[in-house]
Amino acid sequence: MKGYGMISVGKHGWLEKERPVCGPLDAIIKPTIVAPCTSDTHTMHGGSGPKENLILGHEAVGTVVEVGVLVQKFKPGDFVVVPCVTPDWTALGVQGGKSVAHDTRLFGSFKFLGSKDGVFGEVFHVNQADANLAALTEGVSPEAALMTVDMMSTGFHGVEMAEIGFGDTVVVIGIGPVGLMAVAGAALRGAGRLIGIGTRPNCVKIAREYGATDVISYKDGDIVQQVLDLTGGGANKVIIAGGSQETFGQAVSMTKEMGTIANISFFDVGHTLSMPALAWGLGMASKDIRGGFCPGGALRIEKMMELIKYGRVDTTKLISHTFRGFEKIKDAFCLMDEKTPDLIKPVVYID
Ligand code: NDP
Ligand code: ZN
Repeated sequence: MKGYGMISVGKHGWLEKERPVCGPLDAIIKPTIVAPCTSDTHTMHGGSGPKENLILGHEAVGTVVEVGVLVQKFKPGDFVVVPCVTPDWTALGVQGGKSVAHDTRLFGSFKFLGSKDGVFGEVFHVNQADANLAALTEGVSPEAALMTVDMMSTGFHGVEMAEIGFGDTVVVIGIGPVGLMAVAGAALRGAGRLIGIGTRPNCVKIAREYGATDVISYKDGDIVQQVLDLTGGGANKVIIAGGSQETFGQAVSMTKEMGTIANISFFDVGHTLSMPALAWGLGMASKDIRGGFCPGGALRIEKMMELIKYGRVDTTKLISHTFRGFEKIKDAFCLMDEKTPDLIKPVVYID
């Protein structure tokens, strides 16, 4: 079968691969709508280590074409929403860990890209279908649901880790699609002052629509100083959803004592993270530093769709570009790689 992916680090194109085999608990899905993600291009550029001959993509809704003999909830023809993280729910990392993202090893539950081909194929494989596929919730559009599988799930995970309380002053560093979802989640969790950091005009506009009270630009000087000036002393909670290796230290520096820093952004394999000791109160500031990969599974995505169904958040604001046809995955991927100033999230409708 055909799929779009990485030929080797830095090189992408169409690949010819074996059709995946459906195990007894699994499903084979034909994608209906897919979206490229920053993590796809990051992987293609070698940001998560050397990889080759790999179909990319991990954000999809689609139709079931085959199920294993032990699958009970789904049958061929069903329309499904596919979480980007699909843990092995029998693994000890899931049973005993504090996150389901690392089933057998670091990122083990991120099967697409991590250990098998992704969703930019004519069909793709989903492990443990009953636990890892969600039916589309009535009243939620397929494209709104598509935005839950990674963008909303990841952005909201930043909010979960930050444990935002009513009235907290919150900074979201990076207001690409992931950060925008963190802004929306922070507003739902009761943030008081809510500061986004980014520059793309459409992202700035949507950040305000999602509840940001202020948006500052990292191009206007040191973001730590800007946040300290605005807040008169720092934020209670800082979510990192973009930036560079320096962003880590900046996030700690703009967080008040007893606050929390929650990272959902991928640093690069070549990065070193550091901060001035004073930023962490010489080690005594009781600032929690957290970082986590978005949890997976059907229940989480069902809950995300409840928020959409009942009008708490409109995820379709993230969709800035639409393409039609399987072949257009290439164009959408190239656009994601190029990151044009008007880009938030491209989606590809596959007939
Ligand atoms: P984008 O590239 O679309 O957005 C990045 C944001 O960071 C933009 O708002 C950008 O500003 C801002 N930014 C860039 N440089 C700086 C800087 N020096 N200081 C402060 N802000 C800066 O990324 P995404 O929203 O798609 O993804 C964000 C991160 O989340 C990525 O690292 C991605 O790999 C990671 N991710 C993690 C996932 C997971 O855990 N499952 C899933 C998906 C993504 P500007 O407006 O100027 O562009
Ligand atoms: Zn992603």
